[in-house]
Amino acid sequence: MPVPVHVVQHPLVQDALLTLRDSLTEPEAFRRIATRLSVLLATEATRDLPTADRVVQTPLGPARGRAVAGDVVVVPVLRAGLGMLDAVLELIPGARVGHLGLQRDETTAVASQYYSKLPKGLRDSYVLMIDPMLATGGSAVAGLDLLYRAGAGNVRIACIVAAPEGIAVVEQRFPDVHIYTPVVDEGLNAHKFIVPGLGDFGDRLYGTL
Ligand code: URA
Repeated sequence: MPVPVHVVQHPLVQDALLTLRDSLTEPEAFRRIATRLSVLLATEATRDLPTADRVVQTPLGPARGRAVAGDVVVVPVLRAGLGMLDAVLELIPGARVGHLGLQRDETTAVASQYYSKLPKGLRDSYVLMIDPMLATGGSAVAGLDLLYRAGAGNVRIACIVAAPEGIAVVEQRFPDVHIYTPVVDEGLNAHKFIVPGLGDFGDRLYGTL
């Protein structure tokens, strides 16, 4: 059963992606556009958020509506995932935030954990893991492993570029996890970078090239 991949085709998402890919885009613009794209992506990734009926009073009388219900936890994978965090918090200011530090060995591309701070009581939470580059899938499965071991029951991933190799790895280990991405690229190069991708997301975000 293939992992559910939601390719977000919205023109504004695709336009923002192209700007991020452009090697001439400087960190200041890169951060701004990454946030814009992430707002649109997170909107898609939270389409099935539970809501509860509520009534408020307008100046003219009662109005019935739906308010987001339930606990939302957003988990950026450090450090690149931080580039998507403000966008999610803008949409869901009450979300709790967990942090996962997963570093990939540049030669083996194997991810190892160097930091983990997750909110308690994840069982009934709606968890959104954000990691912009789904490349080998190593960080994604390491992150998902940690989240499920911490008790999470409902996890999805939002990324900005996905590689088929990474999707396949997630699919093998976590076939029920939904992935939200604007694009599935050609694949990985010998250095495990996504081609054409956009380079090192963290470096482009923070100007550490
Ligand atoms: N991480 C990045 O930042 N870029 C890639 O292409 C792959 C992993």
